[in-house]
Amino acid sequence: MFFDPRYFIFMIPGILLMLLAQWKLRGTYGKYREVPNSRGVTGAQAAEAVMRRAGVYDVGIEAIPGELSDHFDPRAKVLRLSEPIYYGRSIASLAVAAHEAGHAVQQHVSYAPMTLRTGLVPVVNIGSNFGFLVLFGGLLLNSPTLAWAGVLLFGASTLFALVTLPVEYNASARARELLEQAGLVTRDEYGDVRSMLNAAAYTYVASFAASLLTLLYYVMLAAGVGRSRE
Ligand SMILES: [Zn+2]
Repeated sequence: MFFDPRYFIFMIPGILLMLLAQWKLRGTYGKYREVPNSRGVTGAQAAEAVMRRAGVYDVGIEAIPGELSDHFDPRAKVLRLSEPIYYGRSIASLAVAAHEAGHAVQQHVSYAPMTLRTGLVPVVNIGSNFGFLVLFGGLLLNSPTLAWAGVLLFGASTLFALVTLPVEYNASARARELLEQAGLVTRDEYGDVRSMLNAAAYTYVASFAASLLTLLYYVMLAAGVGRSRE
C-alpha cells in the first residue's frame, strides 16, 4: 500500500496530547485520592447531596469496579461510580462524584449541549467506524464525492468531541457550585476540587484536538482526489 509521512505529522501531536492529559489526570487523581475531605463524606453521599440540592430525585447511584470508570448513564438514570470514588472520603471522591451528579442535573434541566450530544451518538458510531473506509473508497476509486462523504461522516465524531467540551466543563461548574451550596467544601477544598476536575477535562480537550487533526488530514486527502487524474 502507500506510505504517507503526513499521516504521522498529523497523528503524533494528537496522540502525545492525549498521553500527556492521561498522565496529568493519573497524577492529580493519585494526589487527591490521598487527601481526606474535611466533612468526611463519601463520594456516594456527595453525589446524593448535589442531586438533592438541584432537585433531582429520580437518579440512582451504584458502585462499579475499576478506576476512573465513573459515568452517568442517562437512559438508565444511574450514576455509576468506581468503588474508590463511591466509598472513598477523599477530595477526589468528592470531586468526581459531584461531577457525575452534575451530568444528572444537566439531564434534569435539559441542558442543550447535552441534548445535542446525546442526539449525535448514533451518527458518531457510524462516522467513527465507517468514515475512514468511505474516504478510503473515494481515494481508491478516485471519486471526490465518496471521499468528501467519508470526511463528513468522520466530521460528525469531531463535532461530538467538540460538543463534549461544554458538557464536561458545565458539569464541573455545577458540581463545584452545588458542593459549595451544600456546605461540603471549604475555600481551600473548592480550589482542590477545581484542580481535580480540570485535570479530567483536559483529557476531553486532548481528544478533541486529536480528532480535529485527524479530520484535517482527511480533508487534505479528500482535496487531492480527482486532481491526480491523468
Ligand atoms: Zn463528565
